[in-house]
Amino acid sequence: MNQQISASDKLSENNAILVINCGSSSVKFSLIEPTTGHSKLSGLAECLLTPQASIKINCPTATDVNNQKQVIALNAPYNHQKALSVLVETLQQLNLVKGIVAVGHRIVHGGEHYAQPTLIDNKVKSTIEKLAKLAPLHNPANLIGVNACQQAFANLPQVAIFDTAFHQSMPEKAYLYGLPYSLYQEHGIRRYGFHGTSHYFVAKQAAKSLQKPLSQCNLISAHLGNGCSVTVIKDGKSVDTSLGMTPLEGVMMGTRSGDVDAGIIVHLVEQLGYSIEQVDTLLNKQSGLLGLSTLSNDCRTLETAMLDESHPQSAQAKVALTVFCYRIAKSIASFTASLSHLDAIIFTGGIGENSSWVREQITKQLSLLNIQICPEKNETMRFGTSGNIATDASRACFVIATNEEWVIAEQSAQLLSQMTNNLEVEGK
Ligand code: AMP
Repeated sequence: MNQQISASDKLSENNAILVINCGSSSVKFSLIEPTTGHSKLSGLAECLLTPQASIKINCPTATDVNNQKQVIALNAPYNHQKALSVLVETLQQLNLVKGIVAVGHRIVHGGEHYAQPTLIDNKVKSTIEKLAKLAPLHNPANLIGVNACQQAFANLPQVAIFDTAFHQSMPEKAYLYGLPYSLYQEHGIRRYGFHGTSHYFVAKQAAKSLQKPLSQCNLISAHLGNGCSVTVIKDGKSVDTSLGMTPLEGVMMGTRSGDVDAGIIVHLVEQLGYSIEQVDTLLNKQSGLLGLSTLSNDCRTLETAMLDESHPQSAQAKVALTVFCYRIAKSIASFTASLSHLDAIIFTGGIGENSSWVREQITKQLSLLNIQICPEKNETMRFGTSGNIATDASRACFVIATNEEWVIAEQSAQLLSQMTNNLEVEGK
């Protein structure tokens, strides 16, 4: 079977999906049971293409204790292909290969082409490659992972799950920029949004807590990590989101500026002599929490510095975190323009799931939306604990640990099931 799906390939309970998230010098992987989200093995190969290349594998189900946590220094500038061959060897040793029914890939940019999970063939690969002009750092790296997995797992279907897909339901009024229409028509310059799998996952979890079908839920979710985005979900579908054509628009992030007056770019170039590469580096890598605090992009480091008055950058850390929280509150409030009622707001991502201070600051500025959080619940809901932190009188405010890998596994498995069902109907 080479990328073929036959009607006999019914998924069974022990089947698992290998989820791959490939960056330019790293591969994050996870072997997941799609129905439960249970991870049989996970890990990260990093510093690829450098002499420091290494691979960490965590396999809680291994019976041999030595196999449960492994860090393998590759001692050579290994590439993605070689790192995956180490993964395949480990999967073989642990007898986990035969349960794998597909490989699910996180692909960052699907443009307007993909609103659904998609079986990867040569045509899909070439479209992902063409879309690299919209995501030059991500799509080529994602394709390296696809190519490497096609070699390493030649007989398995490869499925693409696009970060932009969930936002393809945005209406025109949300995705168009106020720019000449020809730029959209001829060059695809429009808002696409990202973090789609995360927003979808937490919205589904919130719907369960609200005891309503997702298709009846109106939610605003804030994914706050190194990258940050706010999404408004109406009747279960994304109708607007803060990230745009690239992952630079919207709220302030770890090192990215978020929204700035576009005139600043002209000013930097014309008055301050910046090159366009320097502007790009400034906005993507030197701004946000890092740029404003002059200390760090890491929220934990900033909170610690802010709370320690003897720290030389204590005041500056507070400035950065205050601007960060205000911009997020403003974004959440502005997205109510898309809704006639709101069931709940959601916090997720490394900061949203863990920082009670950030959640308190943001929600304090949302009292007009009838959002008040209970300080005790807010303190409790950290480090992977999910739940409602609102007071009884308030609109619901959920903290939900995101799980993008599970969505990728679940959607890959659903696509396989649909395809096998179609084959059965066709009698193949
Ligand atoms: P992510 O990109 O989702 O992994 O999130 C990374 C961000 O989460 C970093 O800014 C971390 O400092 C932040 N983070 C993780 N744990 C905590 C914590 N306990 N308190 C505050 N921020 C945290």
